[in-house]
Amino acid sequence: MNKVHETAVSQLGHFVGGAMRAGESGRRGDVFNPATGALAAQVALASRAEVERAVAVARDAFPKWAATSPLRRARVMFRFKELLERHAVELTALITAEHGKVLSDARGELTRGIEVVEFACGIPHLQKGEFSDQIGNGIDSWSMRQPLGVCAGITPFNFPAMVPMWMFPVALACGNAFILKPSERDPSTALRLAELLKEAGLPDGVFNVVNGDKEAVDALLTDPHVAAVSFVGSTPIAEYIYATGAAHGKRVQALGGAKNHMVVLPDADLGQTVDNLVGAAYGSAGERCMAISVAVAVGDVADELVGRIAERARDLKVGPGTWPEAEMGPLVTRAHYEKVKSYVDLGVAEGAELVVDGRGFKAGAHPGHEDGFYLGGCLFDRVTPQMRIYREEIFGPVLCVVRVPDFDAAVELINAHEFGNGTAIFTRNGHAAREFAQRIQVGMVGINVPIPVPMAFHSFGGWKRSLFGDHATHGMEGVRFYTRLKTITARWPNDPLNSNAFIMPTH
Ligand code: NAD
Repeated sequence: MNKVHETAVSQLGHFVGGAMRAGESGRRGDVFNPATGALAAQVALASRAEVERAVAVARDAFPKWAATSPLRRARVMFRFKELLERHAVELTALITAEHGKVLSDARGELTRGIEVVEFACGIPHLQKGEFSDQIGNGIDSWSMRQPLGVCAGITPFNFPAMVPMWMFPVALACGNAFILKPSERDPSTALRLAELLKEAGLPDGVFNVVNGDKEAVDALLTDPHVAAVSFVGSTPIAEYIYATGAAHGKRVQALGGAKNHMVVLPDADLGQTVDNLVGAAYGSAGERCMAISVAVAVGDVADELVGRIAERARDLKVGPGTWPEAEMGPLVTRAHYEKVKSYVDLGVAEGAELVVDGRGFKAGAHPGHEDGFYLGGCLFDRVTPQMRIYREEIFGPVLCVVRVPDFDAAVELINAHEFGNGTAIFTRNGHAAREFAQRIQVGMVGINVPIPVPMAFHSFGGWKRSLFGDHATHGMEGVRFYTRLKTITARWPNDPLNSNAFIMPTH
């Protein structure tokens, strides 16, 4: 990759106007290799002026791209998809190096991102308008969806490829210019995606990556030339982005945090349930917005369920993401490791029963990785809804089990939680599953599917404080978000007697 080298630690800049640019603000953030704990790079943190310049570049590029036919825009997406597949090994390695997740999981997130690019390849069909002839005497009407202008995406650390790709393929295919502000904790993947878009034939300036922190985000939120903002991250920031962006006249979609419950009914196949639950709770070290962080044990299933999860949690293969056998890698930074660990301490203090304690885990079996940010899997039983470890998002490998007497109590518990991103039910009872899907106040529901992430041609988004705004991401929701509806009513009069403009038409 075309990094800008200034000192011994590699320096990551921005990608603006079709080229890598060194940062000018003098401010930098540290990027770590979480598997070893070593400083891997420094990333430039953009100033307001740098963001404004990037917006100006995107603004200049927008009209020509918007006027490019959807078919040609789709062809850029087809070439981009090919390049993503050709560079999959390289991209996967980049994700693992800065995020820490295991390589197979990194490949999984890339695949889910590619699926959105595949969806965007259909834009000539997806962006078609509607036409009605003869809505009145000699009058026809049609609607069309036009791009918004410069759109911005602000993304979290946990899916450095997939979450940006929830946004920009659809935004670009619709004819917008785009500025991506990726997480400052793992920014390399976004820069590489920008290079591949250029190689795919996207004109310079249509897609830009500006690295940064709050200063860059605030510049995007208040810039009058940014038409729309897509955000994915934690709930307090999502709420701030929504309120600030909307107050500055922007269209905003802001996806927030989660506390996803999996209900286990007594009739569930426990072998399958535990397999699914362990992967969903501890995969990617719990750093997934759709991770299961609460198991709701209904009736008398609890004792056996907890016993079986505990066995598996103790045996988790934790190690560097590049270790082929690893099931779970390290947490993203030392600060995040400390935060997650402090929640485990809190759970003990709050009186939950710590059945499996991963706090002492050391990656001693992997020489050179002793200082990585590893936490073993943790399991709490007898968690209650009043405890902070139940109410708050921990975003680590910590699973809480809440015991409830029956199905209704499980539904009530989930509906009372402030988050509503994903949920799942494991059962053999079709009626119970259907009732659950109908009554639950959560955006994405799995029936015997632990992590029900919708495919690209559906749309992704939670309810309640997991999503601020009206539109979920990608799928047709993405097309609606990144376009504005215009409706035209036309007539070509050739009868001079039929031209009275002062009456309300009645036919
Ligand atoms: P985060 O909220 O800390 O950061 C997200 C983005 O916001 C980053 O680009 C960051 O630079 C920026 N940011 C951080 N603080 C800011 C501030 N004060 N002002 C303006 N911008 C700021 O989130 P994270 O730790 O990177 O990611 C994890 C969070 O993302 C979790 O809460 C997780 O649930 C959530 N997430 C949600 C979804 C979803 O689909 N709902 C998907 C992935 C992640």
